Amino acid sequence: MSKLFRIARLVSVLFLPGLLFAQQSTELPALKQEAVSEVDRMQTFTQQMVDQIFSFSELGFQEVETSRYVTGILEKNGFRVERGIAGIPTAWVATYGSGKPVIAYITDIDCIPRASQKPGVAYHDPMIEGAPGHGEGHNSGMAVNITAALALKKLMEGHKITGTIKIFPGVAEEILGSKALYVRAGLFKDVDIVLGTHVWHEFSTSYGTGDGKWSGLVSVQYFFHGKAAHAAGAPWDGRSALDGVSLMNAGWEFRRAHLRLQQRSHYVIINGGDQPNVVPSEAAVWYYFRELDYPHIKSLYGIGNSMAEAAAKMSDTTVDRKLVGSAWPPFFNKVIAETQQKNIEMVGMPKWSEADQTLAKALQKEIGAKVEGLNEKIEPLKEPEKNPIGGGSDDVGDISWNVPMVYLMFPANIPNLPGHSWANAVSMATPIAHKGSTAGAKVQAMTALDFLLQPELVKQAWDYFRNVQTKEIHYESFLAPEDKPALEMNKEKMEKFLPQLKKYYYDPAKYKNYLEQLGITYPTVKAQP
Ligand SMILES: [Zn+2]
Repeated sequence: MSKLFRIARLVSVLFLPGLLFAQQSTELPALKQEAVSEVDRMQTFTQQMVDQIFSFSELGFQEVETSRYVTGILEKNGFRVERGIAGIPTAWVATYGSGKPVIAYITDIDCIPRASQKPGVAYHDPMIEGAPGHGEGHNSGMAVNITAALALKKLMEGHKITGTIKIFPGVAEEILGSKALYVRAGLFKDVDIVLGTHVWHEFSTSYGTGDGKWSGLVSVQYFFHGKAAHAAGAPWDGRSALDGVSLMNAGWEFRRAHLRLQQRSHYVIINGGDQPNVVPSEAAVWYYFRELDYPHIKSLYGIGNSMAEAAAKMSDTTVDRKLVGSAWPPFFNKVIAETQQKNIEMVGMPKWSEADQTLAKALQKEIGAKVEGLNEKIEPLKEPEKNPIGGGSDDVGDISWNVPMVYLMFPANIPNLPGHSWANAVSMATPIAHKGSTAGAKVQAMTALDFLLQPELVKQAWDYFRNVQTKEIHYESFLAPEDKPALEMNKEKMEKFLPQLKKYYYDPAKYKNYLEQLGITYPTVKAQP
């Protein structure tokens, strides 16, 4: 071997990987275009998945059919599936590829109690009275992520792109029940970038604390134990567990006036006793304690615990508690958000039809909201709000404090709705959700390509994560080591409605879409007076 040749070889060995990446990243625009075409080609697949999961309507921890359906599709398409992760039977992780970087997709799959609603109908018209329904739109996220992942897999195979794609479901998100457990189980230890996605009426992404309308929380149930007695014959022999609950709630209402304005707390009585002539030996109340950051949430939780113990003392009962969910306030990665925003702008808003706008406006009118139809434009990426005021929570927060992450909001719903209600289910098995999910899938695939092909970008995302986001704040779980997934939640509610729900499962072999199966004219709106 001549000296010159040896040097040339050494140079090529040293620089070849870099050259390869450079080459691939110049191909990036072409690859993105290919991903977009692939997602467009899969529109029917995406629509069927949106409709199918809508028809399952499963509550948190009971997502049995949904998980079976989704993992079946993934296995058929060559993904390796591991079920029952983090001790949760309906949770799983699907993996394709090998090596770095590892890109994870995540999105929720559970629905809302009492949100049953006929899709495409602009007034309250439940499919099954009192049944659960997709009154937030979590039926669409999996269609977004899986469409993106399948398109991406095809590109990775065709162009020999290395890296790993993982897909996770957000189980029991509505009760903030799974993601802190995923983190505790170490499921994100080898993950480089997390691309979460969530239904919304805008096509947007954010970084930092975003619009400032996020809170973190603990969700905890207090069980009071008393002594049963005849409520008239021998009340002095009884100790009312319901007294414990009532005293705790009264105490909380007084204390509320002396808490930071940023806190939000609410409760429901989940067991108020059986009948008035029996002194209730068992009663229970369920609290959400929300605040802006870990120390304040922890302190609110502490006040709640003292109040429960004080109420038990006053009522001569005992109390124990169970943590059923927790969430850090989300904090998203600036580098990923900036990358994602460019892809959102490239894809653009879906083209809404007149029928889509008619449905949206009629629903807005029906519920007394501002009538402005569907969003038509994309807003630029905003600076995070300097003075967050708090609001809802999402347990992806826990993931966002462990791995660089963003949350893509894709436009599959109608603006100005109340959230967590039948109204938010109206668009969710209609062309609005189908088109919004296709648009979302394009961005998910394109953003994954950005990070698969540009190792420098992965490094920058981690620099932001290490040197900005977690410079002073370090993740600590709200979970105690003995806390377990609240698997029994929603079990009875689901069992009650399952036989009725099964009659309405979508059958894509027979019907083009779910509206056709249900015989619904799109859109169905009230006649103008
Ligand atoms: Zn949600």
